[in-house]
Amino acid sequence: MTEPVLIVGAGPVGLTMALALKRWGVDLRIIDKTAARTGKSKALVLWPRTLEMLDIQGCVQSFVDAGMKAVGARIFAQQNVLMHIRLDRVRGAYPYALMVPQSDTERLLEEQLALIGVHVERRVELISFVDNGDGITAVLRHADGHDETVNSSYLAGCDGAHSTTRHALAAPFEGDTLPSGWMLADVELDGKMSQDELTICWTPDGVLLFVPIKGARFRVIADVGLSPVADESPLTLEEVQALLDLRGLPGLRAHDPVWMSRFRINERKVKDYRQGRVFLCGDAAHVHSPAGGQGMNTGMQDSFNLAWKLAMVWHGQASPALLDTYSPERSAVGDQVLRNAGILTKVAILRNPILQRMRNLAVSALGRVPRVRQRMVDQLTEMDLHYRNSPLTLTSQGAARRPSLGERAPDIPLSVGGGGASRLHEILATGKFAVLSVAAAAVTLPDAVQFISTAAGAATDQNYEAGHVYLIRPDAYVVMSTKSDNTAAIISVLERIAAGA
Ligand SMILES: Cc1cc2nc3c(=O)[nH]c(=O)nc-3n(C[C@H](O)[C@H](O)[C@H](O)COP(=O)(O)OP(=O)(O)OC[C@H]3O[C@@H](n4cnc5c(N)ncnc54)[C@H](O)[C@@H]3O)c2cc1C
Repeated sequence: MTEPVLIVGAGPVGLTMALALKRWGVDLRIIDKTAARTGKSKALVLWPRTLEMLDIQGCVQSFVDAGMKAVGARIFAQQNVLMHIRLDRVRGAYPYALMVPQSDTERLLEEQLALIGVHVERRVELISFVDNGDGITAVLRHADGHDETVNSSYLAGCDGAHSTTRHALAAPFEGDTLPSGWMLADVELDGKMSQDELTICWTPDGVLLFVPIKGARFRVIADVGLSPVADESPLTLEEVQALLDLRGLPGLRAHDPVWMSRFRINERKVKDYRQGRVFLCGDAAHVHSPAGGQGMNTGMQDSFNLAWKLAMVWHGQASPALLDTYSPERSAVGDQVLRNAGILTKVAILRNPILQRMRNLAVSALGRVPRVRQRMVDQLTEMDLHYRNSPLTLTSQGAARRPSLGERAPDIPLSVGGGGASRLHEILATGKFAVLSVAAAAVTLPDAVQFISTAAGAATDQNYEAGHVYLIRPDAYVVMSTKSDNTAAIISVLERIAAGA
């Protein structure tokens, strides 16, 4: 059986890839070696940028309905608030962190996939593959032990931190395991604890983090020492309570645990997310500290980035060279996420009392500066991710200052054109580029590029500069912009992208 794309792994990243590819008309197989999806809550947060991507996939509402909105975070030291981060400062439609256990995220993605006729093939394991240059030949092992040889044009390795795909490519997973031990416990908490904000306690003995899940249920995370040796003993509720008593806010009692675990933090990443016809996405390409809760979100966005490019190339609408932009774009984002999560972790687990005091003073002072708070919000919510240095982002004469080249393209109501769409992101949902004129005459697109782009107009909007035309990618980033009397430049770029048609 030959399919355009074989997706290995049905975690959140593989499922997202399958959803986006199928919605954009690309057939696929998605396999997973496990018998059932995870029952564990693992990643709890869907950040606003991921929600925007799910909106473009037409399914964000089911996540919003299933989740709980957390509206901020407070950092405490000795029961004083050092910093209060409020997510109502998010410049977009989702001014909150949506708390959804990963088991539910995977269920919702699978349900969306079922609606468009895609089902995960379970207990099917990728054993090996060969990239023949013009396609992939892979060996899959089924539950009854028989091996199947399959051909596909591309292989997406979404198979997690221990990725078979990455090992087969012999791609180095460079980085370290941090010399610190951690514990997590999903428990019910009695006592005073914010149910719609994250609470971070920096104490002389280490950090204690409370993430609201639903009602009185919280995830408690703490570092439990700098020993380089992993503690393999099972975590007990008594240990969790002892940490709460020592480091938490007063009067908290933990009970009814549903998941308790020790873990170590790995900070590792591949350099190249692509080798030939094989792509690495999600944890297969990058793992890091859970500080900032960005692992799954970053992985899902890897999938959104790759899916529209694969779809355009598969449909013969764009040159295969478009696929060369996946690795540099997402590797740069991966570097940034690793760096930020690493800093957050190291700052939180400082043990030296003088450094702790300096940290607390600095954070308390910075927390009073609105611009710093805004930067933290943009970074945490991934709204500041950009492709400014991507080969796909083009400098152009008369470019607008907002959003600038390579930056996120916020959703905006449309006044004209748009092929019946009423919002910018509805155009992007079709997998096409949008050519958006803001407070200017709508652009007429030549037939030769209409199959990859749709023209639309919008009235003045504070996010965009009047009198400009923007070329926007299907994953809502600005490729280029120019003055409204220079639309020939945008059309010429579209013609170049389509040159492989
Ligand atoms: C305790 C914990 C807390 C976390 N908290 C957060 C958080 O708050 N926010 C956040 O963004 N992230 C968080 N993460 C990280 C998040 O869980 C991962 O980033 C996410 O699961 C990665 O998704 P993935 O699809 O890339 O990989 P996975 O979820 O690991 O899925 C990979 C899939 O591939 C399958 N597979 C592997 N090998 C093969 C093979 N050879 N053949 C077929 N199938 C195969 C596996 O069975 C698995 O189902 C947390 C992780 C942990 C452990």
